[in-house]
Amino acid sequence: MDAPKPAFKEKVFSGVQPTGNLHLGNYLGAIVKFVELQKTHDCIYCVVDLHAITVWQEPEELTKAIREVTAAFIACGIDPKQHIVFNQSQVAEHAELAWVFNCVARLGWVFNCVARLGWLNRMTQFKEKAGKDRENASVGLFAYPNLMAADILVYRATHVPVGEDQKQHLELSRDIAQKFNNDYGASIRARGFGDAFFPQPEPLIQGPATRVMSLRDGAKKMSKSDPSDQSRINLTDDPDAIALKIRRAKTDPEPLPHDEKALEARPEADNLVGIYAALAGITKAQVLNQFGGGQFSAFKPALSDLLVAKLSPVTAEMRRLKDDTAYIDSVLADGSARAQALAAETMKAVKDIVGFVRR
Ligand code: ATP
Ligand code: MG
Repeated sequence: MDAPKPAFKEKVFSGVQPTGNLHLGNYLGAIVKFVELQKTHDCIYCVVDLHAITVWQEPEELTKAIREVTAAFIACGIDPKQHIVFNQSQVAEHAELAWVFNCVARLGWVFNCVARLGWLNRMTQFKEKAGKDRENASVGLFAYPNLMAADILVYRATHVPVGEDQKQHLELSRDIAQKFNNDYGASIRARGFGDAFFPQPEPLIQGPATRVMSLRDGAKKMSKSDPSDQSRINLTDDPDAIALKIRRAKTDPEPLPHDEKALEARPEADNLVGIYAALAGITKAQVLNQFGGGQFSAFKPALSDLLVAKLSPVTAEMRRLKDDTAYIDSVLADGSARAQALAAETMKAVKDIVGFVRR
């Protein structure tokens, strides 16, 4: 019989990189769910600036993006008083725990068949971002998932709302938690933490649209770091910019189908219909009931109007907050202090479990 699983208090953690401003994919894949979870859970939302520098960031741009992503969080409805909003580099424990995860590799029974470099080698984000030039990618880009595991586990968080692209990293976080619990099992038990020190964090891939694709290429996901601004709808875009981007969005010459099945072979059409459905809170089949048989020239303006209607309140609030750097910085300072108090407790225990001598 399996030993009973230790109960961990439910806690939500997630992060967004300040590699640019938030776009529609971040919003529909992650932020909408972040906001909803505040009603039921203690939530920690982090602007993950240490992750951002795994690829080069101009210092002034990075500072600006950290503040903009924070403003976007608040404008979308995240409450930094009730919950915690902060930037990762202000809590050194993230990097400290990541180093431990970089190292944990006890050879022995259960896991000796799995080489740790082997785990990281399989990560598709690294393959995509490093591109053909893998030898010149930063060590940080390769080790990114270990830092992500540390972000979550330093709070012993149990639930992680993310878009579909982060599923593989979340699975790795679960493996890392389990490996730590196994490798240090005796030490964990000896210090009174029961059978497991870290929970197995659960991915919540439940936004209204979990994988929004680029407007220029239906095979690529919408990304902050895509060099083409035409590939994404930013939360800061004004109505004219939105209308232009949707008008220029790649499509095919066929009219929209009546049947959802027919979207499978038409990624660009599928993406636009999916965006409409997610924003309107209806199914793709319902969108096709309304627009099936019609041309994109009729559908695209309706989609632009819906985007403007849904995003403009957020955009207006972001504009208002963005220039108030004193307020944004005070939110981050307050959130960092509260996050650090929690993270420091975990690190103390981790140091004892690992066998470090501490004050
Ligand atoms: P970058 O290109 O720098 O990696 P990004 O656009 O991928 O930026 P992240 O900060 O890496 O954004 O991700 C923040 C959150 O948004 C994550 O939960 C991620 O899964 C989600 N997300 C990112 N892109 C999309 C997308 N196109 N559709 C749905 N969710 C997404
Ligand atoms: Mg990303």
